[in-house]
Amino acid sequence: MPRKINLAVIAGDGIGPEVIAEALKVLHAAVPADTTIDVTHYPFGAGHYIATGEILTAGGLEALAQHDAILLGAVGGDPRDPRLAGGIIERGLLLGLRFAFDHYVNLRPTTLFPGVASPLAKPGKVDFVVVREGTEGPYVGNGGGIRVGSPNEVANEVSVNTAFGVERLVRFAFRTAQARHGRLTLVHKTNVLVHAGGLWQRTVDAVATEYPDVTVDYLHVDAATIFLVTNPARFDTIVTDNLFGDILTDLAGAISGGIGLAASGNINPDGAFPSMFEPVHGSAPDIAGRGIADPTAAILSVAMLLSHLGFTDEAARIGTAVTNDLAGRGTAGRSTTEVGDAIAHSL
Ligand code: ATP
Ligand code: MG
Repeated sequence: MPRKINLAVIAGDGIGPEVIAEALKVLHAAVPADTTIDVTHYPFGAGHYIATGEILTAGGLEALAQHDAILLGAVGGDPRDPRLAGGIIERGLLLGLRFAFDHYVNLRPTTLFPGVASPLAKPGKVDFVVVREGTEGPYVGNGGGIRVGSPNEVANEVSVNTAFGVERLVRFAFRTAQARHGRLTLVHKTNVLVHAGGLWQRTVDAVATEYPDVTVDYLHVDAATIFLVTNPARFDTIVTDNLFGDILTDLAGAISGGIGLAASGNINPDGAFPSMFEPVHGSAPDIAGRGIADPTAAILSVAMLLSHLGFTDEAARIGTAVTNDLAGRGTAGRSTTEVGDAIAHSL
């Protein structure tokens, strides 16, 4: 049956356009000949903001909403640029998209591929996924400052946790664990953050009764960082809040051979809005324009995108192509286009 993918692409800043070019190459090579891919590029990012003053327009959001999915490279500029102060791109664009399209699941798989060196002395098997909450926690901008700039300043950043938001995320995590190896770990800090932690723990306990085939355990976030380094094989599916998930997935990227390999999805599981797939890394201004950024994370993000749209075989083939590519040559010393060409060619 011929199919069509109506794809929005926000290539973004820095190495964003460089890795997206390779990801699109691989996307075209991966889908069957009777599948049409309609690509519409959107200019949003730090560069676009500096040039036009526009971050994310209502019209832009409306246009993006018409697509089946969004592929994003990386947005952000020089963090010292005063025009970008206050995380205007992160908050206005990235969080803006996540909130507008209700991307309440931030899905971040971690795999140590054969042939890739981990900094861990004994990595063992590294193959887990973090199901991170995407629309609540301390990221919602609920807070404020009192006596700002004075010695008596008070800064509040409220972590928002709703029964609605926690339950829908936890349900997604149980389904994810069930489809994987049936082991779910809740990560929080329930001994100190008793109000939010209590809600998360009670929600996991309640939903667990519907999933007798999923084994559930709990770790404080500090202990989780220890086990991610000493025994990452203990993890299958981790469910956690927005902030803990942000931190744990950078650590996860590091133990699995680097940020250049880590893919992610900002998912609206209900399908009311397009989901958005992006490498975990940022715009990497330090290496932009040199043709040395690793496009693997962007390519694996395309695999997640395809899988989300029901192209499961095609997604699996990209996974295999990446695995073989890394096994054959490792990560060092290859140009961006060399990696993209090799993977596209093998497909
Ligand atoms: P941003 O604010 O845009 O997220 P950042 O400074 O937080 O930027 P990255 O842009 O991810 O983080 O860069 C962190 C480091 O990782 C940099 O040294 C960068 O060169 C390196 N890096 C990031 N992505 C890649 C990649 N795809 N290939 C190789 N190195 C990368
Ligand atoms: Mg970053």
